[in-house]
Amino acid sequence: MLETPTDYVVTGEGEWAALDIIRHLGTDSPAEDILGITFRCNDGSVTENEKRPAVRVQDIPMIDWTDFDVDRYIDVQSSSQVSGLGIEIRDGNKLRVMPVSTARGCVFKCTFCHYVYWDDPYRHRSAEDILAECLRNIDSYDANYINFWDDLSFHSVRSAERVVDAILCSDVQFYWSAAIRPDLFGNPKVSEERRIDLAHKFRESGCVSVGFSLESGNNDILTLMDKRIRPEFFDDSIRIIRESGITVGTSVVFGYPNETPATIKETFAQCARNEIFPSIGILIPLPYTKMYEYAKEHGYIVDEDTYLTDITERQDLCLNMTNMSDEDLLGLIREGAEALDRQLGLGLDDVFRTGGEVSHTRLQEGTEASEMIRNSNDFSFNYSTATFNE
Ligand code: SF4
Repeated sequence: MLETPTDYVVTGEGEWAALDIIRHLGTDSPAEDILGITFRCNDGSVTENEKRPAVRVQDIPMIDWTDFDVDRYIDVQSSSQVSGLGIEIRDGNKLRVMPVSTARGCVFKCTFCHYVYWDDPYRHRSAEDILAECLRNIDSYDANYINFWDDLSFHSVRSAERVVDAILCSDVQFYWSAAIRPDLFGNPKVSEERRIDLAHKFRESGCVSVGFSLESGNNDILTLMDKRIRPEFFDDSIRIIRESGITVGTSVVFGYPNETPATIKETFAQCARNEIFPSIGILIPLPYTKMYEYAKEHGYIVDEDTYLTDITERQDLCLNMTNMSDEDLLGLIREGAEALDRQLGLGLDDVFRTGGEVSHTRLQEGTEASEMIRNSNDFSFNYSTATFNE
């Protein structure tokens, strides 16, 4: 029998497994019956149960917020969401942001990425179900901004058209944002006219912001990432989306084994010509991904336990698999970012780190953020020493 909640981890379809765990606690039924969990027995041995099959996405009910202090979440999310989007909320109302999930997983398996539903098929909810949850959030919680909170909100032009058409037909007005890829508006397999039309429908239906990643401006690196996009998809997407009046956010990943000073420049040059400052990350090979296997095969990861204990976050250089020294790699990234900051006139205090690790962290009494223990380079931060807000 499982004795405490710290004895297990859920490995698939979390809410179903969690419900089964709650039902199981305090009973004599064997924990081996709960699909999709890994648990530690009282003798210390670890058992990994069979995987829980993916559920039908149409059977997943709306998120039930009844037991949550929704206003508290709205206050936190709304204040971080509004900047730079040019949103006007009239009649003294404030922005009230709530999340809605449109899909589980992703169609792709980029070699640096790991998402929750990795072993399950991509499952996209119907436009009617998505809209119904938006309307419920608007009616019950006065939401006026829906953040489609997904790994990938729209995997094709058709799937995006269905959702925006449903919103437009409903005559309900709200702002929204979503996670897409550069191929949605940039892949020439779909006519440019249809992509432009889609971008206008996004805006008309309330979209104010989309996020999609450039990752790298170098085609060979994109190929090693198995990203299945070309750099020019990004340029076309930015043009089409901006012309429709929607804000764009993007990110890049430096540090693939074929990264060189020239490829770093290429990536920053692409950001510069598109006048966009990216969220900058450095490759961290994660278990399950192809780059993790690559790092093990090529001797970059020798002791997996030590590696997994030491890695921190994407803004840290945790493992250098390039032919450049740590100093050169980080120096070139900083140099490129500072030049971009100057070109765009942003005046950023720190071009590399977002500072999120400090704002998300509750300091021990009597300590300063600057006193937090860091790894050997100045970009690193070790979360294992931090205490987080409740
Ligand atoms: S990086 Fe994006 S497109 Fe690639 S696998 Fe991850 S979620 Fe999917």
